[in-house]
Amino acid sequence: MTTRVDIQKEYFEKLKFPDACVVCSKENPDSSLNLNTFITINQPFNEPMFKNWQVNVPVCTEHKRNITFGRWISRLLFLSLVILTTVAMLLFWSFLQIQNLWINLGILVILLSIVIFIHSKLYAAPLLVESFSYRILFTFRDDKLAEKFAKLNGVNKVYNVFNQDREI
Ligand SMILES: [Zn+2]
Repeated sequence: MTTRVDIQKEYFEKLKFPDACVVCSKENPDSSLNLNTFITINQPFNEPMFKNWQVNVPVCTEHKRNITFGRWISRLLFLSLVILTTVAMLLFWSFLQIQNLWINLGILVILLSIVIFIHSKLYAAPLLVESFSYRILFTFRDDKLAEKFAKLNGVNKVYNVFNQDREI
């Protein structure tokens, strides 16, 4: 399960992380990693395009390597899905002979949204950072770590995957 912690953007600068690896929860990890919200599909409309919220999170050396590797796999996976979709589309078009540009573009947008959705399900990051209106959402794979993070930042409520809150 995953647990989400919402942080108000005005407190973002003073954000504190528990001194534990975000992947394995090992205490006093010897490394850190920059995570950012750069290019999220749910970028709030009131923010400039590509506004980048960056956080430096503690992670152990071993998992830093895993995450970096995972990111590359994720990018490759995304690229292959896009190529696959494009090829499928081209075959589909030549088969159906649809001449209307808007219908074609519509189908492409729908297919690409499906690709983004499937991709987000295939690759689960240990910590997801999303910008959402006046809050930054932190989704942790580790529930305990999420609670620690919330307490450390004066937040007394966390959310589960169904968006139900619980007091901590
Ligand atoms: Zn670790």
